[in-house]
Amino acid sequence: MKIYFASGNSHKREEMARIFQPHSIVLPSDEGISFNPEETENSFFGNSLLKARALWEIVQKPVLADDSGICVDALNGAPGIYSARFGSENGIELSSGQRNELLLSRMKGITNRTSRFVCSMVLYLGKDRFINVQETLEGVLIDRELGTGGFGYDPVLFVPSYNKTVAQMTAEEKDACSHRGKAGRLLVRLLTDDIT
Ligand code: IMP
Repeated sequence: MKIYFASGNSHKREEMARIFQPHSIVLPSDEGISFNPEETENSFFGNSLLKARALWEIVQKPVLADDSGICVDALNGAPGIYSARFGSENGIELSSGQRNELLLSRMKGITNRTSRFVCSMVLYLGKDRFINVQETLEGVLIDRELGTGGFGYDPVLFVPSYNKTVAQMTAEEKDACSHRGKAGRLLVRLLTDDIT
């Protein structure tokens, strides 16, 4: 089944294509659709629903949206829904490496390093018809980047059960334990022709 993915993030798209196979994941930009809604809600769920609904209004076909980020307990859940924009000011966007450096600098001297990736995923099927799943990947922040795989905050989140950062995992390992993998697999199980 063809499913539109309400995102412009190519890393997320790669993961979604693996997680949702054999379904085909299509970005709005693949079809020349300009799509960049402002994320104005104050929760992962609110923003994922906003993105899913906005794209459904355009394509009127099944849509997936994901809103995700890293929540650090010692920072009261920050950067949370602001993970993509963390440290960006006056229109100047930091690179992933700079964002990781900034986050680790805020954590200097702090011993409680428990953190998690959170993913709210919405499958939007028709006007006011949607399914939402929110999942997490628990870990601890280390004090420097380790590993070259993945994207975003993957090099700084260490997952004790794998004895690796997320960036040191293979794609299959990340999919098996990740917030996005767990949320996506639940939706794949519900995704039949009957509900679309
Ligand atoms: P969104 O597009 O508003 O959902 O922004 C998500 C941001 O959270 C990304 O740009 C990353 O910085 C971060 N993020 C989300 N998922 C992951 C992940 O799987 N690994 C690392 N960083 C992630």
